[in-house]
Amino acid sequence: MKKTRRQGPSRERLATVGEDGSRLVVHPADTRGRFTVLRRVAAVLLIAVYVLLPWIPVNGYPAVFFDLANLRFHLFGATLSVHDLWLGFFLITGLAFSLFFVTALFGRIWCGWACPQTVFLEHVFRRIERFLEGDAVARKRLDQSPWTAEKFLRRGTKHVLFLVCAALIAHILLSYFVSIPGLWGMITHSPLEHWRPFVFIVIATGLLYFNFSWFREQLCIIICPYGRLQSALIDDDSIVIGYDEKRGEPRGRTHGRERDPHLGDCVDCFRCVQVCPTGIDIRQGLQLECIGCANCIDACDKVMDRLGRPRGLIRYDSLNGLAGKPRRILRPRIILYTVLLVIGLVVASVSISRYEPATFNIVRLQGAAYYVDETSVRNQFTVRVINKTMESQRYTLEARPAADGIEGFSIVGWDAPVTVEANGEVVRPLVLRIARGAYNGGFPVRVELHDEGGTVALSHTVEFIGPDPRLFKAHEKAVP
Ligand code: SF4
Ligand code: SF4
Repeated sequence: MKKTRRQGPSRERLATVGEDGSRLVVHPADTRGRFTVLRRVAAVLLIAVYVLLPWIPVNGYPAVFFDLANLRFHLFGATLSVHDLWLGFFLITGLAFSLFFVTALFGRIWCGWACPQTVFLEHVFRRIERFLEGDAVARKRLDQSPWTAEKFLRRGTKHVLFLVCAALIAHILLSYFVSIPGLWGMITHSPLEHWRPFVFIVIATGLLYFNFSWFREQLCIIICPYGRLQSALIDDDSIVIGYDEKRGEPRGRTHGRERDPHLGDCVDCFRCVQVCPTGIDIRQGLQLECIGCANCIDACDKVMDRLGRPRGLIRYDSLNGLAGKPRRILRPRIILYTVLLVIGLVVASVSISRYEPATFNIVRLQGAAYYVDETSVRNQFTVRVINKTMESQRYTLEARPAADGIEGFSIVGWDAPVTVEANGEVVRPLVLRIARGAYNGGFPVRVELHDEGGTVALSHTVEFIGPDPRLFKAHEKAVP
C-alpha cells in the first residue's frame, strides 16, 4: 500500500479551531535544549521581579507603588503625583518605541521570552499540568478518556492549583496599588470593609484562571494587538524564528543516519509541530501565530544531533538570511525607531531632571489690566500653588521689581505663610501695587515662592502694567 504523506496544520486555518468552529486544545510536547533552559531562567527571574518589587523598599516606599489612595506613584525612589501624569506619556511612548525598536531588530522576542502571558502559561500553569497529567501524549489520552475517579482527581487538583495561582498573581498585582501592608490589612479583615479591592481580586482571579486554564494561546492569536502589529513592524532583515527551506527541502523520512542524496535535511518528523504551543508548522513560513518561543529550534536541533547533521535547520535568522541573501542591521526603520527612542529618552530625562515638588502658576485676573486709585496703581493676579509632596508645606511669596530704581512697590494678600496640604492646592489672589507718585511706567516683577527653609522653590516674572506714564504724569500735575 502506498504511504500517504503526513499532513501538518494548514496555514489557511487556525490550528486551534476545528472546521466546525470548536476549540482544538493544543498539548505541546516537552522540549529540552539551550533555549528552553535560557527561557526558564529568564522566566524565573521575571517572576521573581514581579513578586519582589512590592516588597523592596526604596526611599521608604515599595520600589514600584501606584498609590491610588493618595494619587501618588513611587517608581524606584522617585515620587510622582497625579499632577505629573503627563510624564506617563513619555513612559508609555518610550515603552512603545522600545518595543517597536526591539521588534524591528529581533521580531517577537518579547512574546516568547518576557510577555507575562507566555511566562506564566509556559512556566507555571503548563508545568503544573505536566506534573499532574503527564506528557503531551498522556494529556491527550486523558482528554479523550471517560470521566473516572482518577481523571476527576487529576483534573480537579489541577484546576484548584490553577485557581490558587491565578489568585496569587491577582493579589500580587493588587499589592502594586495598595502596598504589601495594605494588602495584608485587607486579607485579614472582612471583604465588606474593602469591597472594591475584593471585587477587583474576584474579577482578576476569574479572568486569569479563564485565560491560563482554557483560553491560553487564543489570547496571543486573536486578542493581542502586538501580534497583529508584527507584520508592520518587522521586515526581511528582522531576526525571527524560521525554517531553512533551502537546506531542509525536499523533506522526507530517512532511515537511521543514512542520508538520501535526493532529500534535504528535514526528515519530516513533525517534532517542531508537536512542541509548538500555538500548534503551527513553522516550515510553512513565518506566521502570525508564531510567538517566537524557540521550542521548535530546540526540538529540531535535537533531531539534527541524533542524525549527526548540523544544528540550525530551524533557527534565529532574518528572512533574508534564511534565503541566503545578505543581512542588513542598519535599515531605515531601525534608524527611525532609534531617533524616536533617543528623542523620547532625552525629553523624558530633561522632564524628570527638572521635576519640582511643587507647582506654582500666576495668572493675571480677568477684567481691567490695571487699576488706579487715589494712592496707587494696582495689578491683580491669581496665584495657584500645588504641593506635590506627601507632607503639608508652608510657602511664602515674595515679589520685587526686576529692574533697579523702582520705589514704593509692595504686595497685598501674602503677608503670612500659606499652608498647602499634602498633594493639595491653594488658589489665592495677589495684588501688586506701586504708589502713584513713584509710578513711571510698566516694569517686570519677579515673583518667588519660598519653601519653609526659605529657599526659592519656584519663580515667575510678570509684567506690571499701568497707564501711559506721560499722560499719567500730566494728569497728576493737572489734578494735584
Ligand atoms: S523538527 Fe526539524 S527535521 Fe523534524 S520536521 Fe521539523 S524541521 Fe523537519
Ligand atoms: S513556530 Fe516555533 S517559535 Fe513559533 S510558536 Fe511554534 S514552536 Fe514557538
